Amino acid sequence: MSIESTVFGCTPNGQDALLFTLTNKHGVRARITNLGGILVSLEIPDRDGRPADVVLGYHALDKYLEQKTYFGATVGRYANRIGKARFTLEGREYRLAANDGPNHLHGGPGGFHRVLWDAVTVSGDAASDVRLTYLSPDGEEGYPGNLACQVVYSLTDDNELRISYAATTDKTTVVNLTNHSYFNLAGEGTGSILDHELMINALQYAEVDDSLLPTGRLLDVKGAPLDFTSPTRIGARIDQMKGDPGGYDHNYVLNKTGSELSLAGRVREPQGGRVMEVHTTKPGMQFYSGNFLDGSIVGKSGAPYRKHAAFCLETQYYPDSPNRPEFPSAVLRPGETYKHVTAYRFSTD
Ligand code: BGC
Repeated sequence: MSIESTVFGCTPNGQDALLFTLTNKHGVRARITNLGGILVSLEIPDRDGRPADVVLGYHALDKYLEQKTYFGATVGRYANRIGKARFTLEGREYRLAANDGPNHLHGGPGGFHRVLWDAVTVSGDAASDVRLTYLSPDGEEGYPGNLACQVVYSLTDDNELRISYAATTDKTTVVNLTNHSYFNLAGEGTGSILDHELMINALQYAEVDDSLLPTGRLLDVKGAPLDFTSPTRIGARIDQMKGDPGGYDHNYVLNKTGSELSLAGRVREPQGGRVMEVHTTKPGMQFYSGNFLDGSIVGKSGAPYRKHAAFCLETQYYPDSPNRPEFPSAVLRPGETYKHVTAYRFSTD
């Protein structure tokens, strides 16, 4: 286990953003920056021991300061959409920035993906941590309460990258943090993920309208092209996902009984044999098949990221839950602690 830190670049207000490199004994290497709590790269060996970087991203900090795709980012305060960019809590309406048509997406333009987090590293025998903290002031991006947040990235010698989130508030608020890594298990920039095999541990998903907001109805995956209860090629039925831009962009209702850490999904890339399992304590997971990538972004390897160049599995509360009392609640009150663990486990077959 080793941890190195270097300066990644300088932010517009003159602060250094750092880049931390965690390496385990199997050659798994994760690079994380405290700008946006972003996972910049993740090198995973294939079945023959050849490493590839399995997340999309950039080499340079300035690209992360401008990005609208949320590559690798810690997303908050509220991952995914809040309808009409507003919600009511304890009788008061809060208005947020509309940055996705009329809706609010991923915490707003100045969300957690854009802020510089304080960082410390902790090196242990079997795991190395990067611990990031950020105090989001009352009213930031329209949300109530001073929110003290912590995000810990841990890489273990068991080839697990674990992200542990915690937050406390001094006013009732909503919190829904996630990581927005775009994965391609053959390596970023190598092409599409349509041949990856995906299993999602969910029998239902949240129906969405044309603006990708939940309608409130939870539908059965059975018989639909959204059924990934058994391993299925991502591309097998993607053409049946009509609309503009088409593809998958849905919150799955995970099969679980409470907030235990449990299997949410498994992805296998047949050529190199890399397998990634996602385990989470949260009730939902957004499966996004990189539908809005259009080749205009050139990534780390110099290759353009085209439609379906990656997939995201974002563990979360359901989108728009602040306006959907029937969904699991993302409300956090003073005295409570928001807790969330998501573990990405890598192996080969
Ligand atoms: C959303 C997509 C969005 C993407 C990038 C995903 O979480 O569901 O609709 O385009 O993030 O912002």
